[in-house]
Amino acid sequence: MKVKIPRNVKITTHPFTKFFKDFENVDAVKQIFGEKTKEVLSNLQVEFAGFRGYMGVSDIDGHMIISAYYLNNGDLTDIYLDIIHELVHVKQFMEGKELFDDRYSYVGRPTEIEAYRHAVEEARRLGFDDARICQYLKTEWMSERELKKLVKALNVEYVPPDKR
Ligand SMILES: [Zn+2]
Repeated sequence: MKVKIPRNVKITTHPFTKFFKDFENVDAVKQIFGEKTKEVLSNLQVEFAGFRGYMGVSDIDGHMIISAYYLNNGDLTDIYLDIIHELVHVKQFMEGKELFDDRYSYVGRPTEIEAYRHAVEEARRLGFDDARICQYLKTEWMSERELKKLVKALNVEYVPPDKR
């Protein structure tokens, strides 16, 4: 090959707390990390990426990856709840749990159910009813059957949502 390809590139990440403020004071976040909340958040790195989608946690080093498009255009409350969800995955990664366990479907994966539980609990605290929660949980890549399964696992009543 007469081309040059770099083989030692680094992923560009930023300190989470440089962009996301006061999460250490949120009860829902303290419920995830307990006494370690401040410490975990101050060590957490975030990557803003140019993919279509929402957000996730790297199963290589546990940093948070957020779609810049979603962050710039998504519903602000949905983004807030997604961050709660992803922080649960950060904790699971720190505990050595397998985040993408292929033995389970997405909506049946225990790590996902745990993350959604925290997000839904916070959604209820914010005053979301079951219809709004179903709206929040619906994504374009989730079938109605899968959404119903997820909703049931979270003790939410299924209300057919509009497309997100
Ligand atoms: Zn998740």
